[in-house]
Parts: sequence; structure tokens; C-alpha cells
Amino acid sequence: MDFCAIIVAAGSGQRAGPGGAKQWRSVGGKPMARWSLEAMLTAGANRVVVVASAGDEATAAAAFAGLGGWFLAEGGATRDRSVAAGLEALAASPGEIVLVHDAARPLVDTRHIHAVVAALSGADGALPALAVADTLKRATADMQVMATVDRTGLWRAQTPQAFRAGVLAAAYAAWPAGEIPTDDAAVVERAGGRIALTAGDPRLMKLTYPEDFAMAELLAGAARTTRIGQGFDAHRFGPGDAVWLCGVMIPHGRGLIGHSDADAGLHALTDALLGAIGEGDIGDHFPPSDPQWKGAPSSVFLSHAAKLIADRGGRIVNADVTLICERPKIKPHREAMRERIAELLGLAVDRVSVKATTTEAMGFTGREEGLAAQAVASVDMPA
Ligand code: MG
Repeated sequence: MDFCAIIVAAGSGQRAGPGGAKQWRSVGGKPMARWSLEAMLTAGANRVVVVASAGDEATAAAAFAGLGGWFLAEGGATRDRSVAAGLEALAASPGEIVLVHDAARPLVDTRHIHAVVAALSGADGALPALAVADTLKRATADMQVMATVDRTGLWRAQTPQAFRAGVLAAAYAAWPAGEIPTDDAAVVERAGGRIALTAGDPRLMKLTYPEDFAMAELLAGAARTTRIGQGFDAHRFGPGDAVWLCGVMIPHGRGLIGHSDADAGLHALTDALLGAIGEGDIGDHFPPSDPQWKGAPSSVFLSHAAKLIADRGGRIVNADVTLICERPKIKPHREAMRERIAELLGLAVDRVSVKATTTEAMGFTGREEGLAAQAVASVDMPA
């Protein structure tokens, strides 16, 4: 999906209580605005402009440390002026898709983003919205009910909202001076545009009041899920004087036969990682029919699986490999194997386990026709 994005982070957030502008406060362990920027980049935004207040440059740089693909624009006095400033800074071509998102809705993810982009194909704008579930009352300033309002057909508008850049720019140009819209779809509606709704999400709540932050902390925790994958591999012994196991070369009276370096330990672990994210198996990514993988070090396969997880915003939690063979003896090499895997996956060594067993002289491993490996890995992924 090809799109760019505006993240509106210029508000002062006075209703959110003390503690500085809310978009830079910590939610779920990171600055609120960082959640939205990471989500836009993960979903494939080709560039993101973050509209911030003048003077927030250093705060933004610290909040977005390590991220690329973004730049800052200075916000205006009101939200609509900030969006207009972001749109100008993006310099998007008229047909380009632009998403506008409030930094105060940190728990946006790829599904929300791709849904509004997809919905734009049949409309001039698209936004996520939730049906109003509570009964609506109109009341006086002193809390006296005047009427019950029919909620039929009423929806709560959220962001991200998607538009073609040209449509949004023209609508803003036509917006009457002196009026302040509360979202961007309203601007396009006023200009006669058709707006589509996609499924809203309670997690897209706008953090406005102090109590919203406690709710967001809970939701941020629920926004991740643990996944587990397992892998198995076996290779036959053949001529040679060493075997590769878990990234370590071990002198042995025989070698292992395989298209690559036949490292069954790393192959099983690669399959475990691929399994955890539903990405098929090692043969799908590195076909044995492809000559470029002949004799390849299996570290390439493992690093590829780790990158796929990182690209999806995931993180490997731990990995556990069991090698099954009579010989070579694994124990003298176990720590080197753990260290090598930890290095390849960017993990602390205590998150990597390598174990070994024989099969008491039974079966193909017992007869030393070959050896086998099993692996289990867990990963922490966006839910
Ligand atoms: Mg293999």
C-alpha cells in the first residue's frame, strides 16, 4: 500500500491534567506519539510528517530516536490549521493517499491503517467509527436532562482518516474562515465528498482526560500477544570431517549431507520462528532447487526469519533447541552454540537454550545414520 501520513501532535492537551503535553507523555513504556509513528511506518507509510508545536523539536527527536522516514512541521493555533500545515509540508501529489491521525490515539495498528486505505477506493474519504452503544441524553449545564436523543445511525468518528491529497487540500481551501472542524472528514463532507466508514476499535480511543491514561496502559498491554512456533529437522551423515550444529563447527569423523551447510539445529530453529508468525517453512523462503543456497551458511536462514519478525513489529522472547544424536558429543560445544544463536538473534544468552539427548541407540539417530533437531521459540507480536 502506497500512502503518506500526517500525525497531529501539536495540541497542548490541557484537559489531560498536569505532566506536560500529552503526546510526549509515556504510555505503555514509550512516548505517546511514538506509537502512532511506529504504526504508520510498520504499515508501509512512505513518509510521515509529525505536526508539532514550535519548540518541541528536541522532545520529538528524543521521542522518535532510532526511527527514520519522518520529519517535523510546525503546527497552527487549531487542529485544522495543523493538518493544513502538515499537508503543505508533505507536498503530496493530488492523487497520493494521505492519512491524518491524532497522536492522542496511540494504539493504532496496521489493520486500522490498511482498512481506511482500502475503503478509499470507493469514496473521497474513509475513517474508522464505532456505533454509539450508550443511550444519549441532552442536558442543561446544571445536569438536568432535557431529552433522550435517538442514537439510530450515530457513529463516533476516530482516526486515522484517509483521503486523496488533492481532495483534502481543495476541501480545506474551501472551508469557511472562522469555523473550526473537529475532524478532517467533516471538511471533505462540506465540500461534497463521500465518506466511508470502516470498523472502529475501542483501542483507537482518544486520550483526553487523566483517567484515559490508565485505560490506555491496560489496552497497551493487551495490544501485544505471545506466539509460539516449533520446528524439526534431520540430516543424514556422509563423508566429511566436521559438522555444523547451531552455528558452530564441530570436528567429527563424518559430515552431514544437505543442500546448505546441513545445520539441523539452525534449520529447526528457523522453522520455529517462521512457524510462530505463520510464514511457512525454510523451504518456502530458500528453495533447495535454488543453486544460490548450495553450501550456504544456515545463519542466513535464521537471520532472515528474525528480520521477518522484526519487520512485523515483533520481538523474539526465547528459543530452545534440542539436538538428538549419539555423536558428536554436544555438551563441550553447548555454550558456544548458545552464544552464536544469541548473537544471530540479538538476544541475551539466557534467552537461548541448547540441549542434547541421545535416543538410547534406537532409531536412525541411534544407529548414527543421521542426527535430528527440534526447536521451540516464542515471539512477542502486535495482537
Ligand atoms: Mg535441514
